[in-house]
Amino acid sequence: MDYVDQVYEKVLAKNPGQKEFHQAVKEVLESLIPCLEKHPKFKENAILERIVEPERQVIFRVPWMDDSGKIRVNRGFRIQFNSAIGPYKGGLRFHPSVYIGIIKFLGFEQIFKNSLTGLPMGGAKGGSDFDPKGKSDVEVMRFCQSFMMELQRHLGYAVYTDCPAGDIGVGGREIGYMMGTWKKIKNSSEGVLTGKDLEFGGSLIRPEATGYGATYFAVEMLKVRGQDMKGKVCTVSGSGNVAQYTVEKVNQLGGKVVTLSDSNGSIYDPDGITFGKKFDFFLELKQVRRGRIKEYAEEFGVEYRPNKLPWDIKCDIAFPSATQNEIEKADAQTLVDNGCIAVVEGANMPSTPEAVDIFIDAGVSFAPGKAANAGGVAVSGLEMSQNSMRLSWTREEVDNRLKGIMEHIHKAAYEAAEKYGKPKNYVVGANIAGFLKVANAMIALGVIG
Ligand code: NDP
Repeated sequence: MDYVDQVYEKVLAKNPGQKEFHQAVKEVLESLIPCLEKHPKFKENAILERIVEPERQVIFRVPWMDDSGKIRVNRGFRIQFNSAIGPYKGGLRFHPSVYIGIIKFLGFEQIFKNSLTGLPMGGAKGGSDFDPKGKSDVEVMRFCQSFMMELQRHLGYAVYTDCPAGDIGVGGREIGYMMGTWKKIKNSSEGVLTGKDLEFGGSLIRPEATGYGATYFAVEMLKVRGQDMKGKVCTVSGSGNVAQYTVEKVNQLGGKVVTLSDSNGSIYDPDGITFGKKFDFFLELKQVRRGRIKEYAEEFGVEYRPNKLPWDIKCDIAFPSATQNEIEKADAQTLVDNGCIAVVEGANMPSTPEAVDIFIDAGVSFAPGKAANAGGVAVSGLEMSQNSMRLSWTREEVDNRLKGIMEHIHKAAYEAAEKYGKPKNYVVGANIAGFLKVANAMIALGVIG
């Protein structure tokens, strides 16, 4: 469709070198074609031209002092991409690979993901090229304080304007230090960030939400195939927040997770990361000691595979849960050849476009990140609701709502795919279902944003 090509060409010209952003835009725009053909109003209102351009982009200096007294400088970002359906919402990523192209791809994806949850949240993302790995707690605190000193200027009325959360490298510790800084500056206990500890306004199930949500989404996809999680062998990449609670929920539902990874390598435990000694060791290793996944292999005498991802290990379901573009074409082919029936993206954009094509052509149930990992932001939305009401819901209540939201997302994506002529294609379904609500809101709000 010419309209899509023209908009994409402009994105390439106006955002040179931002390859992850280009990749995310291309995937979304191409999958919207059946919807754009059916509803000419979106072209007439220049919705694509507007939706690919962030409402606001902030880049700032983050100076901080390390433990030896040396002054370090990092770069901070906040991309407030789209607020048509609610306040900007999206995590902060601290990782050395962060640059504007990464934050823009994540912010762009977040628009559609947040819309899919059914909650009133706009899309945003932020972060820094700061690497928390190997830093002392005090260094992380100084960095977070400096980062928030500047970021707070741009968050407006917080829960009504922009409410960040965590992502890679930003967990409970970092959120706590940033929340502390906000409180000090603003003299306000308003819950400006989500992912807070329970003691100061956090929600039960928020740490678990992304991993649990991805697993609930997998269950819905399996139902369509007349199957369930019992006895399924799963490969998981990463060993951070998303991976940890994917392992927990898969175990609870009777499946078996046989791999984990970090940026140095992966482990393969054919008996599974079972509850009891193994799972407890894993959580303590990652959440308390902040150690490397290699130590799991050493502790339990299983295979450690340096610099290798888990995709050559035979599985029924793959949960890529580390980072973008970690499943390439050859990996996808290996997964298909080994009989994998479902790929559920816990991470954002972990499969390259070529890998996605291989999955879809082979009839693998493929859940794109913006649908499968939306449980995290959904419970962040529920954290905002609880903060506003000055109430805390029980574990069961939040978990039931999360489950309901994941079922709703699955249904919305599944039905949109059918309606627009691409049955069982969750990429097309999720993009169209997420897009429609935002695009209609943009039209209703007038040519102002
Ligand atoms: P964490 O920081 O808790 O864990 C990230 C894990 O992925 C670590 O094991 C890390 O290894 C590995 N990893 C990160 N970057 C790379 C890389 N470049 N190459 C190889 N391995 C890497 O992050 P999360 O678990 O929170 O996030 C994982 C993914 O899930 C991300 O794509 C994130 O955007 C997405 N996501 C997270 C949500 C959340 O609620 N946390 C919500 C929705 C999506 P190492 O320790 O060696 O760096």
